[in-house]
Amino acid sequence: MKLTFTHSPLVHAGPQRTDPDFVAACRAHPAARTVILCKGDVVLGETGEPLVLHPLEAATLRLTPPGLVFLGLEGETPWFGATAEPGATPPGVDFRRATMMADANLAAILGRARAILNWHRRRTYCSNCGAPNEPHEGATKLVCPSCGTEHFPRTDPSVIMLPYSGDRCVLGRQPDWPPGMYATLAGFMEPGETIEEACARETFEETGLKVVSARYVASQPWPFPSTLMIGLMAEIEPGEPVARDDLEDARWFTREETRELYQGEMMRWAPPHYSVSRLLVETWLNAK
Ligand SMILES: [Zn+2]
Repeated sequence: MKLTFTHSPLVHAGPQRTDPDFVAACRAHPAARTVILCKGDVVLGETGEPLVLHPLEAATLRLTPPGLVFLGLEGETPWFGATAEPGATPPGVDFRRATMMADANLAAILGRARAILNWHRRRTYCSNCGAPNEPHEGATKLVCPSCGTEHFPRTDPSVIMLPYSGDRCVLGRQPDWPPGMYATLAGFMEPGETIEEACARETFEETGLKVVSARYVASQPWPFPSTLMIGLMAEIEPGEPVARDDLEDARWFTREETRELYQGEMMRWAPPHYSVSRLLVETWLNAK
């Protein structure tokens, strides 16, 4: 299963993007394309598809700083991303909804755009000295002209796991989720932790259950706003889960119950390819 936001068609073009002339040539390239976001949502064109403009046309809109961000190359085609100021375009549609419907390559490009553009929103000023940062390398790097600090887009690693023991798995639910919705456990990694330690800590904090072993399955960039989800199967000691931390409930599900849940209630929330969470559940269901 090819997960949404993975297998991006873009090449970062790291060595070339340090040359401002190269980025300028990309901007003027006749086939260059730009995706437009507004307040983190996707702006659509008249056809109902995500709006894609030539960078020179996109630059005529009122854009938030730093304007056009060079996302990378798809073959010879340069791709850019930009955030329109509210009112400069029709309002965007919810990012999740738009990327569930979009072509896989375009969804991956939109995911990269959202993560970098969100970072720009929070990094207008240098976090070291407070001076306004300046964009470099197609605005995928910021440099403070006052103290010289370099700032790069950040990615926050998060573990996401399916705890299981024998023929049963543990799923949890958060209080603000729709009725009947249960899913895998997840949490951000702490400094100084390995992936396996984060998996064991989060599982214990949320359910009180101990992880015996953890196995990496797959990862997924998750642009809400800029997380890397690291998906694991977590074999746990048997015991009764006690929902804690941010969970309202956590309980055992048999394979049959899990299949029923994911073929029913969960199908309404996202297609199977949309999250590594779903991939973990499918992996476990198919393991038998
Ligand atoms: Zn500074």
